[in-house]
Amino acid sequence: LPATLKEPLFAAYNNCNLDKVKAALADKNVITMVECAPAVRMAIAEDFGAELGTVEAKKLAAALRRIGFDKIYDTNFTADLTIMEEGTELIKRVTEGGKLPMFTSCCPAWVSFLERNYPEMKDNLSTCKSPQQMGAIFKTYGAKIDNYDPAKIFTVSVMPCTCKEFECNREEMNSSGYQDVDVAITTRELAYLIKDMGIDFNQLPDEDFDQPMGMYTGAGTIFGVTGGVMEAAIRTGYELITGKPIPAVDVTAVRGSDTFRTATLQVGDIELKVGIVTGLKNVIPVLEDIKAGKLDLHFIEVMTCPVGCVSGGGQPKLLLDSEKEAAYEARTKGTYAHDAELPIRKSHENPAIAKIYEEYLLTPNGKESHHMLHTKYCIGENEFKK
Ligand code: SF4
Repeated sequence: LPATLKEPLFAAYNNCNLDKVKAALADKNVITMVECAPAVRMAIAEDFGAELGTVEAKKLAAALRRIGFDKIYDTNFTADLTIMEEGTELIKRVTEGGKLPMFTSCCPAWVSFLERNYPEMKDNLSTCKSPQQMGAIFKTYGAKIDNYDPAKIFTVSVMPCTCKEFECNREEMNSSGYQDVDVAITTRELAYLIKDMGIDFNQLPDEDFDQPMGMYTGAGTIFGVTGGVMEAAIRTGYELITGKPIPAVDVTAVRGSDTFRTATLQVGDIELKVGIVTGLKNVIPVLEDIKAGKLDLHFIEVMTCPVGCVSGGGQPKLLLDSEKEAAYEARTKGTYAHDAELPIRKSHENPAIAKIYEEYLLTPNGKESHHMLHTKYCIGENEFKK
């Protein structure tokens, strides 16, 4: 362990992630906090017999409360936080000079692919941690607002992804002074846990995530689909640059399912050129074109899974290709429908985001944000813990 990390309270828990979660929940000395990725709410109900793509954010919050977590927080909130940090970083790189194109950094499979295979392009990655890892604020700001001892907090993330466990175990993910996120489980594992604890998911009432870090916007929600991070960043970036409302909140130019698509958007005086890649193999020609000077873009979103996180490897299992296609389409539709029904759809308008900057982080890309919410890419420079 790095010297900065204290002796882990949780070292005695055994190796299976669900057993670690159960042990933490049963331990009276431990405060448990959970966060759920945007795409989980688009698919969890499928494991309880619902139609493909049924959105169940409120039953999900209720299930997590019945399981016994002390704080039900949300990765959608940290997705909004990511936009504040990543949008500010992009604006700085474009207007003040910096490595371009800037790549998104919220997909750990993509990040480690780039680190291993194109290390000369590591500086193109946004330095922002992923929304999961911005969960570092649960053990810091979250501990502060509830007067908890951070040493006693055990954080669990529920993800559509089989790569997020690797990410939370990365050695550098310890800005809180502890491992920032203790365990990542998948949507499927959460469904198993709900069933194992005898909770009748379909009979649960609608409940909300806990405040303040359970408050989220439509922009945070669309992180679950290809093009969503880009669209969320444009909604905020446009308004921060121009000081005017974006003409259309739905930025349809970046939506779609083509594995590589580009768009040019007028943002004030800037002609912003963006690209979206979905499916990891499709990024190789894009990277080669950039290296050869054949592609000139400011910002590129890359997601490993076929249509983004709604199609992640940790989502409810579908065996037939036809079922998978239908599920991906339904979950994508569900994501945009959830975005459209939310009262606030831009990350910078989330009042809980404004509050965290006022009370704790002070300013996007500031000193505290850099310490807590940004990282350095060091595969090949450091060893992993496991
Ligand atoms: Fe994980 Fe896939 Fe989402 Fe990447 S796109 S974060 S691999 S679920």
